[in-house]
Amino acid sequence: MPNALILGKFSLGMGDRFARQGRAQLAACQMAAARGVEVVPVWNKSNREHLIVGSEPLSVRSEADSAVAALGWHSAYHVDADHINLNTVDRFIAPSDFFTLDVAAAIGRTADMSALDDFVARHGDCGGAFSLTPAKVRTAAAKYLHAVQEAGRIYRRIESSRGPGTFITEVSMDETDLPQTPDELLVILAAIADEGIPAQTIAPKFTGRFNKGVDYVGDVAQFEREFNDDIAAIRTAVERYGLPANLKLSVHSGSDKFSIYPAIARAMKSTGAGVHLKTAGTTWLEELIGLAEAGGAGLALAREVYAEAFAHSEELCAPYATVIDIDTARLPQPSEVNAWTAADYANALRHDQSCPAFNPHLRQLLHVGYKVAAKMGARYLDMLAECEESVARNVTENLFARHIQRVFLA
Ligand SMILES: [Zn+2]
Repeated sequence: MPNALILGKFSLGMGDRFARQGRAQLAACQMAAARGVEVVPVWNKSNREHLIVGSEPLSVRSEADSAVAALGWHSAYHVDADHINLNTVDRFIAPSDFFTLDVAAAIGRTADMSALDDFVARHGDCGGAFSLTPAKVRTAAAKYLHAVQEAGRIYRRIESSRGPGTFITEVSMDETDLPQTPDELLVILAAIADEGIPAQTIAPKFTGRFNKGVDYVGDVAQFEREFNDDIAAIRTAVERYGLPANLKLSVHSGSDKFSIYPAIARAMKSTGAGVHLKTAGTTWLEELIGLAEAGGAGLALAREVYAEAFAHSEELCAPYATVIDIDTARLPQPSEVNAWTAADYANALRHDQSCPAFNPHLRQLLHVGYKVAAKMGARYLDMLAECEESVARNVTENLFARHIQRVFLA
């Protein structure tokens, strides 16, 4: 499956809710390049984020292009239409060159019986990897074949509009309750090849909880075993089914999954595999930290965002209910936060688990609370511009020191 556009081995998805931090984000990739490691920047924004913020996909392309021009970045970069489906893809087609086909909602819907029969007749036991048998292949296909066929429909819609080989394709199944096991992943990849989707990244749901804005919750040793098995499944699928040679895992981190980063780094080192690490909300939280650290009006606005998020927490949390875990008793009262210094605010929010003042409940609430800032509109954006130095410093430092260094430079 030929691709004109090939995603590099190491790539970083960097979402930016308000499209103001492109240069600060790209600076983190420049720091990696200065150390001899190419980390390809990919600006991602999901349809859900666009709806909440009220933005258009073209704004992500404009942000990426202008950051690249401003910093003189001469290497590859991409714009990812994140978590799109057949109903939402159209307005993303022109400005994006990376598409994350989200078919999680179609998992478990039964495929046509004759398609299932054909699949098992064609693939048998998928070579017997992971102790697969034709019966197990059938069970997995019954669960995932319909979803992969849906991915095929989305892929062909984009391909017919843009032309083959002009974009990078990711298939994502991460936003679902049950993780996909490595043997299921192999069956999914066989089906992706059958559909003719030249997937370069695949985002399964991994074992454990990936709550928004905070660390991984789960068995890190089990994650590491499965992550390595997933890499083996990908290698098998590339050889057996002719999928693109650079096909790799995409980790939708929901921000900062620091405790699994060493496992990911080890797996890449021992197997030679690459990875796409997708982040988004972590940058918006650094904006708040930067506003707070600027003091004065910046700090006042950061406090106001918290007070509003606190007042509307139910509404803000609802779309993210399955991926947050907030103990409301641990949320400070806005009156308390209004008395905080810049350092108090930054210490409570910044994702430094060694800091006694760090509050993961506050962090999760603010992570999903960006609608508050969206509603402030120009008042919020103007304050970002006013506090640009401290905001940019925090955005760059976070992406480089907490993400790039731990995953790609470890
Ligand atoms: Zn995702």
